Amino acid sequence: MAEQPMLKFVTVERDMPEKRDATVRKEDFREIYAEYAEAKAQEQSSRCSQCGVPYCQSHCPLHNNIPDWLRLTAEGRLQEAYEVSQATNTFPEICGRICPQDRLCEGNCVIEQSGHGTVTIGAVEKYITDTAWDNGWVMPIAPRQERSESVGIIGAGPGGLAAADVLRRAGVQVTVYDRYDRAGGLLTYGIPGFKLEKDIVVRRNDQLEQGGVTFELNTNVGEDISFADLRAKHDAVIIATGVYKSRDLEAPGVGAGGVVRALDFLTASNRKSFGDAVPKFDSGALNAEGKRVVVIGGGDTAMDCVRTSVRQGATSVKCLYRRDRANMPGSQREVQNAEEEGVIFEWLSAPRGFTGDPVTGVMVQKMRLGAPDATGRQTPEVIEGADYTEDADLVIMALGFEPEALPTLWDQPELPVTRWGTIKAEFTTGATELDGVYAVGDIVRGASLVVWAIRDGRDCAEAILEKLGATGAIAAE
Ligand SMILES: Cc1cc2nc3c(=O)[nH]c(=O)nc-3n(C[C@H](O)[C@H](O)[C@H](O)COP(=O)(O)OP(=O)(O)OC[C@H]3O[C@@H](n4cnc5c(N)ncnc54)[C@H](O)[C@@H]3O)c2cc1C
Ligand code: SF4
Repeated sequence: MAEQPMLKFVTVERDMPEKRDATVRKEDFREIYAEYAEAKAQEQSSRCSQCGVPYCQSHCPLHNNIPDWLRLTAEGRLQEAYEVSQATNTFPEICGRICPQDRLCEGNCVIEQSGHGTVTIGAVEKYITDTAWDNGWVMPIAPRQERSESVGIIGAGPGGLAAADVLRRAGVQVTVYDRYDRAGGLLTYGIPGFKLEKDIVVRRNDQLEQGGVTFELNTNVGEDISFADLRAKHDAVIIATGVYKSRDLEAPGVGAGGVVRALDFLTASNRKSFGDAVPKFDSGALNAEGKRVVVIGGGDTAMDCVRTSVRQGATSVKCLYRRDRANMPGSQREVQNAEEEGVIFEWLSAPRGFTGDPVTGVMVQKMRLGAPDATGRQTPEVIEGADYTEDADLVIMALGFEPEALPTLWDQPELPVTRWGTIKAEFTTGATELDGVYAVGDIVRGASLVVWAIRDGRDCAEAILEKLGATGAIAAE
């Protein structure tokens, strides 16, 4: 095995001051992709008790064989660990970086549950595959035989790419269509580079292209090519378009300058890191530098916005969420990271409107949690007379995403959708009621996780291979 570089490992423990002011400190940044040395990976892996009831594995959406690759890593058999890891996961180094492990594998580690701190499964998974890339163990796809059937995939996010990978290994002709200029979906333009470095995504896109996957980028299905034409062109079509319609606020001042949508803000930042010209970033419209930033929302997108603002040099960053910490949808680990970087959370606070144009402040109403609704979640109620104004030069709305109206946009009224606008598809295969049309990832689940999109893409590809009579044709790398 090639000698591994001993690289910096950034520890997660840090003394927390009693109360943080809103001043951000660059030295407090904690880049979660910080390098992980072999000794650390071995030490962590050897902590796995091989308990025999691997809850970690059953709580990983891909059912990764975690105990086995931990054991192999502990024994220094990294290439074998990589083989085991990549057998169930198309992008292990990506999941290792950005899965909310505290809610999945690590949160269910028996060592964690016995109070001794989880094995850092995600970091080890990332380390194994990064090492595989460094050592040339990750090879381009080389199908044993070419097949004549073709599959068109709409959307080059993790769901579409995972399906492309499985299909191409079996020799199927695969074309991926995407309206963006780069593949990767939210891996490329949504998730910030401090969580997922962009070269990690680019090398996977390159690997697929080198393996014979055709990318038709800058191609908006419904505008540049019709859905009906795609169906006619391919034996099967997979819809993997994600959810992109931002939920908006209806409140006075919403249209004011300086009140922006989360994805616009994050995309501008990601494009800048690719070296693209981004006029709205350069003009300051989508740039937090020197500004008092208020982010509205309590999900992971809101956490990405606050942490990106910190890195851009905001003078202060606050996050408003209408429920309390225990009831927020985002990962607790992300909140902790943000707090350590100087972000102030205003729990039980909802925007009532905005002052100024460009914006100068957010009118905030204080909330309390009332009776549970039908889902059992406590409903936030306004506390009368407790309003105040939070100063702000940039307000970022991170209120979630909904599906676009695909049946209308694509002139396909028969495309089956749920009452939420997501595509109705079988969860295990992605098959819809339309012959040869499948759907995977967020467009089926609603806003979800990368690891679930990968799972869907892999399952769907296998179902298509079965229909084509091509199972068993998947070539080893
Ligand atoms: C800011 C942000 C941060 C996130 N952070 C995390 C995280 O840390 N961990 C995690 O697990 N998940 C995270 N997620 C969720 C995760 O990114 C998604 O669940 C996942 O990317 C869904 O994959 P997908 O393939 O279904 O769709 P997407 O990744 O959204 O990809 C869909 C692709 O389809 C293309 N497309 C859409 N319509 C068309 C059309 N008409 N024609 C052609 N192409 C089209 C889009 O351009 C896009 O490239 C985050 C989401 C956001 C918004
Ligand atoms: S894919 Fe995600 S949930 Fe599964 S082992 Fe890796 S980090 Fe954990």
